[in-house]
Amino acid sequence: VTAGIGSVESPEDKSLGGLLPPGFDESSCLSRYQAALYRKASPHKPSPFLVEKLRRYEALHRKCGPNTELYNRSIQQLESDHSTGPMECNYVVWIPHYGLGNRVMSIVSGFLYALLNDKVLLIHVDQDMEDLFCEPFPDTSWVLPKDFPIENLGEFEGDATLSYGKLIRDKIINNDMRFATKVTLPAYQMLRKIPWLLLRTDEYFVPSLFLVDEYAEDLQQLFPERTTVFHHLVRYLFHPTNTVWGYVMRYYQGYLAKADERIGIQIRIFPLVPIPFETMLNQIINCTLSQHILPAIDPQEPAAAPSNAAKVKAVLVTNLNSGYHDRLRDMYYEHSTTTGEVITVHQPSHEKQQYTDQRSHNVKAWSEITLLSFSDVLVTTAWSTFGYVAQGLGGLKPWILPRHPRPGVACVQAVSTEACFHAPPDYDCKARKGGADLSAVAPFVRHCEDVERYKHSI
Ligand code: GDP
Repeated sequence: VTAGIGSVESPEDKSLGGLLPPGFDESSCLSRYQAALYRKASPHKPSPFLVEKLRRYEALHRKCGPNTELYNRSIQQLESDHSTGPMECNYVVWIPHYGLGNRVMSIVSGFLYALLNDKVLLIHVDQDMEDLFCEPFPDTSWVLPKDFPIENLGEFEGDATLSYGKLIRDKIINNDMRFATKVTLPAYQMLRKIPWLLLRTDEYFVPSLFLVDEYAEDLQQLFPERTTVFHHLVRYLFHPTNTVWGYVMRYYQGYLAKADERIGIQIRIFPLVPIPFETMLNQIINCTLSQHILPAIDPQEPAAAPSNAAKVKAVLVTNLNSGYHDRLRDMYYEHSTTTGEVITVHQPSHEKQQYTDQRSHNVKAWSEITLLSFSDVLVTTAWSTFGYVAQGLGGLKPWILPRHPRPGVACVQAVSTEACFHAPPDYDCKARKGGADLSAVAPFVRHCEDVERYKHSI
């Protein structure tokens, strides 16, 4: 990880070093310029090339965005079903898949793909995602209009007739990436010319873009600090709407603002990889104590009262259930600490289950991700995209609780704020063989520290 290149953004730098565009009405999305005031200052400055590229993208989006003349023309062409030739405006239509964290991951990836290919990203917002995210591009919209002619977007699967893989399997495009019309194009160039590309994924596939030679130069200029891709793009794109910001601020001001330090603990138990409650609790306590994130409790009775000058650490726990919060709170309520610090423990919600199709549930999830991003120190659960979003927004290198607890390893610290690609390809294109470990193909693509072998980060 190359640390910051010299300049530190101050909280007053409202544009985050030029990342955020000018021209927004601030009151329409208060979080856009205010969120940075609650986060640790980022040591990472966006490169001038990235800033310039984003301004050019915004201009393209304004030109091609919903209900412009060029958009209407592209829609007509899509409806006419005649030509697959390139248009002046080419689009990536993002289709939601799985939970909120997964959605953010895949939107960021789709956006970088669009940026590298001069395409325009539009997102399909169902009622469950309404009023969560502010518009990221000024004077236009990234929301796919409701009258988009292709219906049932949620039903697109990998085996859909017009999916890229199916087109190859059915030899509409052959394995050498030739159109049936005999036009030879490398895969990336061919996809680049397709005017409407529908993207349905829950993955952070940015690391695989680093494996495509044709993008190498642009990526190098856009992100001279490679491990800041997610940090910059997630802060550029994702701003809670005023509705969500209300939740965030009510909770923050009520429970967290006055503490001397804020610790976020994100606990995610995956239904398919259950971890016994006591095992996970021990893991959390071992991690926070051994890394000096939280103090040990003093076994002496009666416990001494804290001094008036005692430092207060506020712990924000997020989980679908309240058990971990309750046990941590009891621990610090019933005992004093060996350091004399006072530890308060808070959890905004315990929704019991994932209800991704319910908007009110997603509002809480997004509020909690945002609150976690305000942490001074973050502890997350391995493999969880919910935690990745918080770490990216906060520019934090979290302490990761393993998904498969091992004795002696309570947690490991992430080496960067980058998110993990859970489903990397294992085909080495140059060697033309499968079963490859891609971290051996590109030196800066490496194994994620929070999952098993062969998952890649950058
Ligand atoms: P992942 O499954 O951990 O990678 O994260 P996702 O965000 O993609 O999906 C999990 C979903 O479950 C979230 O989006 C929420 O809907 C819900 N969820 C999981 N953990 C929490 C939590 O701590 N708080 C809240 N409010 N919702 C949660």
